[in-house]
Amino acid sequence: MAEKIIAYRFERLDETLSQLSKENCLIMAGGTDVMVLHKSRRGVPPKITKPVVFIDHLSELKRVYKRGKDVYIGACCTYSELLENPLIPNALKDAIKAIAAPAIRNRGTLGGNICNASPAGDTLPLLYVYNAKLLLRSVTGERVVSISDFIQGVRRIQRSSNEILVEIILPSVLEEGANVVFEKVGNRNADAIAKVGFAGYIRANGAVIEDVRFAFGAVGPTMVRSVDIEKKLLGKTIPLVDADIAQVVAAFDKIIKPIDDQRSTAVYRKTVALNLLRYFLSRKQYPPNEW
Ligand SMILES: Cc1cc2nc3c(=O)[nH]c(=O)nc-3n(C[C@H](O)[C@H](O)[C@H](O)COP(=O)(O)OP(=O)(O)OC[C@H]3O[C@@H](n4cnc5c(N)ncnc54)[C@H](O)[C@@H]3O)c2cc1C
Repeated sequence: MAEKIIAYRFERLDETLSQLSKENCLIMAGGTDVMVLHKSRRGVPPKITKPVVFIDHLSELKRVYKRGKDVYIGACCTYSELLENPLIPNALKDAIKAIAAPAIRNRGTLGGNICNASPAGDTLPLLYVYNAKLLLRSVTGERVVSISDFIQGVRRIQRSSNEILVEIILPSVLEEGANVVFEKVGNRNADAIAKVGFAGYIRANGAVIEDVRFAFGAVGPTMVRSVDIEKKLLGKTIPLVDADIAQVVAAFDKIIKPIDDQRSTAVYRKTVALNLLRYFLSRKQYPPNEW
C-alpha cells in the first residue's frame, strides 16, 4: 500500500509562509519537475518524504504587472498563461514555446523552471540576459536577489526552507529597446530537452553598441555568462568586424566547458554554442524587438 503524504493547500500566501516557517516542506508548483524527480517504478506512486505544500493556486503568485519600466511576473504563472500576456517580451515567449508540449506548458511555471535550477532550463538563458531579479518572501520579510546569485549549481539554489519565490522582475525591460534572441538546439523542434540554449542581447545607439549580453544554457552547471567578455564589444560599431567577433568567440571558447551525457557530447555542445554566438554577432543589424 502507498505511504500517506501530508499535503497542505492554504488559501493565502501568508498562511503558506507560516507553515513553511514551522515545518520543512516540499514546495509543489506545477509539479512537472517534482513528480519526475520523485518518481518510482511504473505504477508506483512517487516517493516524497517531506510534507508537500501546494502553491500553484495562490493568487499572490499569479500576477503579471508593470511598475515603472520593470515587469513583474508571478512565480506561479504557467507558461500557457504567460504566452497570452501582452507584458511578456516576445523573446521570452519564444523560449516558452520551445518548452515541452501544451500539456506541460499548462502546468509548468516560470518560478518552477528557476527553482529547479537545471542547466537545461529553457527560460534561464533569457532571464540571465534580462538581468532578472527574484523576489523571495518568508514570514520574516522579503529580499531581492539576482538570478545569477540565486542559482548556484545543478539543482542548487540560494533559498532558505521558509522562503517562497514570489516574483521574477525584469528590470527596465519596457524601455530598453534591445534586440534579444533565444535559440534552442535539441533533438527536435518540440518536446525536447536542450542540448544547447543561447540568449543574445544587443542594444545600440545608431550603429554603436551600448549594451551587450550573452548567456549559454546546457553547457555548464549553470548558465555561462561573462560580463568581462561582453565589455569587449561596448562602443564597437555594427556590423562587427571579423577580428572582434573572433576575439569574443575565442574568449567564450575558453570558459564554455560542457560535458558528455545521454543527450549530447561535449564537443557537439561547444561547437554549436560558439556557432550560435558567431551567427548572432555576424548580423548586419539589430533592430529593437517589437515586444
Ligand atoms: C515531459 C516534460 C517535458 C519538459 N520539457 C521541458 C523543456 O523543454 N524545457 C524546460 O526548461 N523544462 C522542461 N521540463 C521541466 C519542467 O516542466 C519545467 O522546469 C517547469 O518550469 C517546472 O515548473 P513547475 O511549476 O512544474 O515546477 P515544480 O515541479 O512544481 O517545482 C520545481 C522545483 O522548484 C521548486 N519551486 C517551484 N516553485 C517555487 C517557488 N515559487 N518558490 C520556491 N520553490 C519553488 C519546487 O520545490 C521544486 O524543487 C519538462 C518536464 C516534463 C515532465
